[in-house]
Amino acid sequence: MTARTPPRLPAKIDPLVRAFLAAPGAAQAALDTYSSPAHLVFPQVFAENLGRLRAVLDRGMPYRICYAHKVNHSRAFARTAERAGIAIDVASRAELAGALGAGFDPSRVEVTGPKGEGFLRDLIGTGVTVNADNIWELTRIADLAEAGARVPVLVRLSGFAGTPVSRFGIPLRQVDEVFEVLTARRDRIAFRGFAFHIDSGEPGERLRAVEACLELTERAYAHGLAPTVIDIGGGFRQVFTDDADAFDAYVLALRESLLGRGEPMAWGGNTFGFHLDGGAVHGTPVFHKYANTVPADRMLADLLDAGLDAHGGRSFAQLAAENLLEVWLEPGKALVDHAGITLARVEFVKETADGSVLVNLDISRDTVTPADQEVMVDPLLLPENPHANSGATGVFLAGRLCLERDLITNHKVWFAQRPQSGDIVAFPNTAAYHMDLSAARASMHTLPPKLAVVHRPGKSAGPGGFEICHDAEYEPENLAVPRPSSPEWHGVR
Ligand SMILES: *Cc1c(COP(=O)(O)O)cnc(C)c1O
Repeated sequence: MTARTPPRLPAKIDPLVRAFLAAPGAAQAALDTYSSPAHLVFPQVFAENLGRLRAVLDRGMPYRICYAHKVNHSRAFARTAERAGIAIDVASRAELAGALGAGFDPSRVEVTGPKGEGFLRDLIGTGVTVNADNIWELTRIADLAEAGARVPVLVRLSGFAGTPVSRFGIPLRQVDEVFEVLTARRDRIAFRGFAFHIDSGEPGERLRAVEACLELTERAYAHGLAPTVIDIGGGFRQVFTDDADAFDAYVLALRESLLGRGEPMAWGGNTFGFHLDGGAVHGTPVFHKYANTVPADRMLADLLDAGLDAHGGRSFAQLAAENLLEVWLEPGKALVDHAGITLARVEFVKETADGSVLVNLDISRDTVTPADQEVMVDPLLLPENPHANSGATGVFLAGRLCLERDLITNHKVWFAQRPQSGDIVAFPNTAAYHMDLSAARASMHTLPPKLAVVHRPGKSAGPGGFEICHDAEYEPENLAVPRPSSPEWHGVR
C-alpha cells in the first residue's frame, strides 16, 4: 500500500501557524488544557489579511471593509475587526448581537441576507445599514420606519449579464420599481447605493456587475437620489494549496484511479462530481476551489484597476475617487484565510475488508468540512511519540459517528508514517466556513471548543511563545506583536 512518491495535497500554511504546529508540545498542551478536538483561531493572521486588503484599497477612493461574520462564529475575529476600525456584515439576529457585543457601533454594521418580518422590525431605528435583498423588504422597511427617521439602505442587485441566476438580490429588470419605491419613500429610506455579492472566481462577472452599478448610480442621480456607495460584496478567494503542480498531479492520479488504474484513491465509490463515461473522466470536481492560486488581494486589485470601456478605459478605482463614491466590500473567507486550524486525536487505526486503512478520529466530517464538500488539503500528522518510521501510508480519515458516510476524507491521504492512537491530526485552514457552517451535534456529541492563539514572545510561558485562551475571552490588546523569526519546521506533514 505504499507508493514510492505518494500523491500529495500540500497545504499553504501561514508561518505563524506553522511555528505553532512546530513548537514542541504546543498543540499537545492546547488539547490537554482544553479538550480534544478543538478549533484554533489566530487573530494575528486575520489582522495581516486585513492589512493586505487595505494596502490594495489605498488607491485614493474612500472605502469601507465589512467583515462578513457568517464565515466564522469567532468572537476573537469580530473583536479584532472592531479594534482594527473596520465594519461588519451580519446576516442574522445572533450575528448582530455578536457584533454589538464585540463593540461595533450600529453605524458600522451592515445587515445582508434574507431578513423576514421579525428581523426587519428589530433593525428599524437602530442605525444599522440594511442591505435590501428584495422589493418586499424595501417596501416593508419604508412601512415600518417612522416618518423622518430615514433608514440607511443599500439595494442588492442580481441578474447581471453572463452571471448564473441567483436566489438573492433584485433582478436588474425590476430596477424601475426600485427607483419608484426609493423616490416615493425618500422620507423613510436614506438610499446609500447599490450592492451585489457574487461568489465567483471569474473576474469578468464582478466587473460587469460594477459597470451595471455605476450606470444605475448615474440613473439614481437623475431620479434626484444621492447614492454614495457601491458595495461589491465578498467572494474573494482563498489559496489553500502550497503547490499547484502537486495538486494537479494528485487530481490526475485520482482521475486515473476512478478509471481503475493505479492504486485505489476513492472511498465507497465516490466520484467527487466527476462523470465517468466510457473510459474517460469528465466534468468539474466538487473540490475545484481548493485548486485556486489567485490570492484575494490580487483579485481585488484586478477588479479595481481594470479599464472600463463605458468610461473611456478609466478604472473603477479612478471613477470612485473622482466621484467620491465609497467602495464597500464584504470579505469573509479572505479575512480568515489561514487564520484557523482544527486539531483532532487519532482514536484507533483499522483495516477494512478491502484492505483500506482507516484512521478514526475524535471528530466527525461536519467538524471540518463546509456543506459536506470534500476538503482537498492534506492534514498534518503530529505524532504523540516519535514512533518507528513505517514509511508513507495511504489512509482514509474516518469520523466518530456510527454512520457509513462519516468519512472525513473520501479521498486517500498519505502520511509520512502510519498514524497511531494518541497522535494529533491538524486540519489546516479551517477558519472559513469549515469550522462552523455545517457543524452538527449528531449522537449528542458536543461541539469542539474554539480557542484563540496569540504569539507573544517574551511575555508568554506557553510552548514556542504562544498563548491560548477561550475564543470568547480573547482581547486584542496588542495586535502589532512581532512574528517569530524563521520558524523551524520539523517535517510533520
Ligand atoms: C457570505 C457573504 C459574504 C462573504 O462571502 P465570502 O465569500 O466569505 O467573502 C459577503 N456578502 C454577502 C451578502 C454574503 O452572503
